Amino acid sequence: MNLILLFEDDLVASDLKDSPADSFLVELKGRRLEHVKKVVRSKVGDELTVGLEGGNIGKGKVTHLDDECLRMRVVLDQEPPPPADIALVLALPRPNVLNRTLIAATSMGVKTFYLINTMRVEKSFWLSPKLSEGKIKDQLILGLEQAKDTVMPKVFFKKGFKPFVEDELPKLIEGTQAIVAHPYVDGESPDEIAKGTKTLVVGPEGGFIDYEIEKLKSIGFKPVSVGERILRVETIVPVLLSKLTS
Ligand code: SAM
Repeated sequence: MNLILLFEDDLVASDLKDSPADSFLVELKGRRLEHVKKVVRSKVGDELTVGLEGGNIGKGKVTHLDDECLRMRVVLDQEPPPPADIALVLALPRPNVLNRTLIAATSMGVKTFYLINTMRVEKSFWLSPKLSEGKIKDQLILGLEQAKDTVMPKVFFKKGFKPFVEDELPKLIEGTQAIVAHPYVDGESPDEIAKGTKTLVVGPEGGFIDYEIEKLKSIGFKPVSVGERILRVETIVPVLLSKLTS
């Protein structure tokens, strides 16, 4: 955790009216309190890097710390890092892989995820409790805290491949370069793709079927390959993000 992500609920309401516009008193309990005590080992007077969800980042000076709560006076005077100019469309991987991929991609600045169904997505993955809004948000928070970011990504679930590709994706890719990661083509290298906003589709652990690749190509997707080595979803996503984002 390189930044403690704060939420409106953490702000001490009684302090708000008397504080300058960018300075707040916050009170933390639970995971973030434990982290500060056990990992960072802060004491009263120390400064921690903090950020308010959807807002600025800055410093928090610890004013009180015990087993029950941590209080800090925070000043939020810097903007979070810019977002990555890419949307990620991911065939739903197994839940643990999804978690790791969401954390990695969020830490690399992805702000929009579409989790889609394809022929080789295991049906049982869609039933996992790890897909609940709360559990997904936990992973996004870990990614934001890792990268000192505050802007929560949006995650959309699209369980019908055909209706998504035919009815929604053409609008979503307007004004972006549409790229599908596929190892089995003499696809372009991601190093040859020009700068600019992109939409990247990554396949399931079992790979795409031909119909899916053809369907994506029919609406303008360009296949890219990073070579003959087939990489895991949690590996290919950061590799491609680092090559395709500016
Ligand atoms: N057994 C599957 C197959 O043969 O297609 C492996 C799929 S791979 C684990 C999951 C997804 O990662 C693929 O569908 C593709 O989108 C992407 N991927 C993995 N390695 C890649 C590579 N070398 N080039 C481009 N995309 C790759």
